[in-house]
Amino acid sequence: MTGLKTSSNLPATDGMKVFTNSKQVLDAQRLVVDLALSSGRHDCLACEQNGNCELQDAAYYLGITKPSFNLYDDDYQIDDTSEFIVVDRSKCISCGRCIVGCNHTVVNEVLNYGNRGFETKIVFDTDLPMGSSTCVQCGECVQLCPVGCIIDKRAIGAGRTWELDKVETVCPYCGVGCRLEVHVDRTQDKIIRITGVEDSPTNNGMLCVKGRYGFDFVQSEERITSPLIKEDGKFRKASWEEAIALVASKFTSFKKEYGSDSIVGLASAKVTNEENFAFQKLIRKEVGTNNVDHCARL
Ligand code: SF4
Ligand code: SF4
Ligand code: SF4
Repeated sequence: MTGLKTSSNLPATDGMKVFTNSKQVLDAQRLVVDLALSSGRHDCLACEQNGNCELQDAAYYLGITKPSFNLYDDDYQIDDTSEFIVVDRSKCISCGRCIVGCNHTVVNEVLNYGNRGFETKIVFDTDLPMGSSTCVQCGECVQLCPVGCIIDKRAIGAGRTWELDKVETVCPYCGVGCRLEVHVDRTQDKIIRITGVEDSPTNNGMLCVKGRYGFDFVQSEERITSPLIKEDGKFRKASWEEAIALVASKFTSFKKEYGSDSIVGLASAKVTNEENFAFQKLIRKEVGTNNVDHCARL
């Protein structure tokens, strides 16, 4: 074969000899990475992606200590018009991952390349600000971007990647059950960001806006942390024992007076399969009715 081939899209065949670190290959890689670094505002110290950036890793691997060219155009505006995402195009390396993700993985069809040549940039719809475009803030582009171009707004300055613990769990919102990783700052016991688990057969790393960004409730001051019983039109706090005893006595009296079918059990999509299983057993066996359903949506 003549010339250099990109390993990412050349299938290996029998008898092929592959050289990945010859001088010719390394020189070509150095030039490409150097050009990418030279054409953007790559101030790693202040960048949210520092320590988690593929361009930074490539420069380190290839021994590039500073950009050789001055190709940076200072006109780039930071787009912070959307609710949860900030876009700093000066850091974009035009890899196209966000575009493929938006169009072919989550199929929201918002992102594309605009302009040509050195002016090429990622655009939302017809080059609209992200907040005015048809973007649904699913965050797939944030997850796929290998550099610090598309980032979570609320995570800025909130903690370095290596300082955060990653805890894997299932999204609490709906019955799809996407697997996600919660990035937690243990010093404050606070959730900083959420990402989808790439090898999950349920969601392949994808999340919707609720799963990725709807986590404020976890730390909300208004969160209900104990049962409430209404007396004289007002709620008062109660123990679990008291609340469960009250509900059980009411159900028993309804059952006696009107029969089992006067009661219906509606389970939640926010709890696990196991909890839903236990719930339908309770309604069928203890209450004695088949009136049991589930809100498999939100
Ligand atoms: S995108 Fe990567 S290389 Fe550029 S400033 Fe951020 S960490 Fe550094
Ligand atoms: S947040 Fe989702 S919909 Fe919006 S541009 Fe990114 S991938 Fe497309
Ligand atoms: S994934 Fe990031 S670096 Fe790649 S084209 Fe999109 S914004 Fe640019």
